Amino acid sequence: MEFVLPPKETPWFPVADGSSRFPVRRIFCVGRNYAAHAREMGNDPDREPPFFFMKPADAVVHDAEIVAYPPETRELHFEAELVVALGLGGRNIETDQALDHVWGYAAGNDLTRRDLQATAKKLGRPWDLAKGFDRSAVIGAIHPVDQVGHLETGQITLTVDGALRQEGDLGDMIWSVPEIIAILSRSVVLEPGDLIMTGTPAGVGAITPGETCVVTIDGLSPLTTPIGPLD
Ligand code: MN
Repeated sequence: MEFVLPPKETPWFPVADGSSRFPVRRIFCVGRNYAAHAREMGNDPDREPPFFFMKPADAVVHDAEIVAYPPETRELHFEAELVVALGLGGRNIETDQALDHVWGYAAGNDLTRRDLQATAKKLGRPWDLAKGFDRSAVIGAIHPVDQVGHLETGQITLTVDGALRQEGDLGDMIWSVPEIIAILSRSVVLEPGDLIMTGTPAGVGAITPGETCVVTIDGLSPLTTPIGPLD
């Protein structure tokens, strides 16, 4: 049977070898996964199990793409994050086998309409439009595990126009990558092509049109995002 509308092309990210593409299925995100960031947002990092939210696969932005300032916000925030790309799916994955499901890693920027998120938190409403808006899932080239190994420690930074704004270490995550995969796989059946943004270190802040964010993670390609005017 024919589709009544043209089906959308699968969203993708480049693999760091430059010759192939990683197809995006879903984008899961972990909230509050570095103690210092949990504290800066007014939460106690010791008492909270990980929680998840999502961005639509339609929201993907590649390295060096200009992101137009999004509508309905006066407080667009950057969040530097390690992104895990799954090559194998599964449910009820054991923590000690979870890394076998990882295909690769990338640098990411979980763009956030912080003012909308603050309102949603206050009113007990969903975060979808604070986190899952158009062009909110900024992710760099995906590096295969067989080239970079598993990233358990290493510096993660974010600069705005060259000024250091976020600095952390992957080893400071409250919930490790295998723990995140195992816990998430109890709630949903994970699939190949799923991406997980693993949370941001302290130092989140606003970015405005004309400024450029760069996320770096040891061993991975840097991720550059210029912010354009509202469109
Ligand atoms: Mn985040």
